[in-house]
Amino acid sequence: MTGRLRVDRTRCAGHGICALIASGAVDLDAWGFPEVVATELGGDDLRRARRAAAACPRGALTVSDVVPTVQPLRAPWEP
Ligand code: SF4
Repeated sequence: MTGRLRVDRTRCAGHGICALIASGAVDLDAWGFPEVVATELGGDDLRRARRAAAACPRGALTVSDVVPTVQPLRAPWEP
């Protein structure tokens, strides 16, 4: 399972808690606001990202599951 972390910049207040908890996924910019540095997260990084989202005091972080795309089946006679 992989997930994607997003920051709602309209809610974020720049506390920086997310970068402490999910350092593999979030860096802080020069003003102390988070930048997501990893587009798809898995394993420990995904767990930390979920923890950071739960800890964010402004509810500015969301983690969504990445659903793998499935190629449609083709009939054997189709090119
Ligand atoms: S913990 Fe939440 S409010 Fe604080 S910097 Fe991270 S996203 Fe912004």
